[in-house]
Amino acid sequence: MTVPNVDLIDGTAMPQLGFGVFQVGDDEAESAVAVALRNGYRSIDTASVYGNEEGVGRALRASELPREELFITSKVWNSDQGYDATLRAYEASLRRLGLEYLDLYLIHWPMPGRDMYVETWRALERLKHDGRVRSIGVSNFTVPTLRRVLDEADVVPAVNQIELHPYFQQDGMRAFHRDHGIRTEAWAPLGQGHGLLDDPALDRIAGAHGRTPAQIALRWHLEIGNVVIPKSATPSRIAENIDVFGFRLTPDDMKTLGEMDKGVRFGPDPATFETD
Ligand code: NAD
Repeated sequence: MTVPNVDLIDGTAMPQLGFGVFQVGDDEAESAVAVALRNGYRSIDTASVYGNEEGVGRALRASELPREELFITSKVWNSDQGYDATLRAYEASLRRLGLEYLDLYLIHWPMPGRDMYVETWRALERLKHDGRVRSIGVSNFTVPTLRRVLDEADVVPAVNQIELHPYFQQDGMRAFHRDHGIRTEAWAPLGQGHGLLDDPALDRIAGAHGRTPAQIALRWHLEIGNVVIPKSATPSRIAENIDVFGFRLTPDDMKTLGEMDKGVRFGPDPATFETD
């Protein structure tokens, strides 16, 4: 299975579908990433706070895939925000992953109350300027926090990785991203196992295509232009989640899916989330 790339504003290409490893322990991440790479995934989304960068790194090395075929993302955690701390956190992530560079480095949460995200962004700009990272972006940024970065900084974030799924479609954020050349990357693309995949409407569409609800949800993301990073530790689901390039949804399917938005997030609110 070959995953198509999308272009980022800085000219780099990113696979439109990758593999997420949130809440996967270090050893389990090693085996899950190995299965993912065997199934054709080349983009892996981790974060220092996930505590599995070493396991991910072991799987990458064991695969013997050329580094340039991989697209590796990690994120600076809240307690490492600030210019110098972020530069140190980046080097620590590289060490744990056993890599010379990352393809994408993100600020994990803006934490507007602490007001350190612009300074933190400056550190990411420095890493990019020095050729230490290919692309830089943010995660969980809102319109006001993104606007401030756009106003005060030099580099436009290549992506904003946000909670997004058919139950929480984020039309406003997607429109803002589109207007500024920022790629929308969806976390919890399958709704994190909170009932989305049992939705009767999703099930009906899945039946009509001879596909699974998870594949329909992922197809919806791809067709509206999102980058997706579904997670699973189950080999059959890892294979199922990348097998989404051989069919298309109909306009009626897209309309039904578009009407599933409940406007309620499952995860924390980025306006107030400040946990270390
Ligand atoms: P997800 O929407 O990918 O859901 C994962 C869960 O869905 C699995 O644990 C499993 O229970 C279920 N699932 C997976 N494939 C399935 C299938 N084919 N059939 C049935 N059930 C299936 O949620 P997620 O892991 O939270 O998000 C994906 C990735 O996004 C994470 O692993 C992580 O890399 C990233 N993420 C980022 C942030 C952030 O703040 N930036 C937050 C959460 C997640």
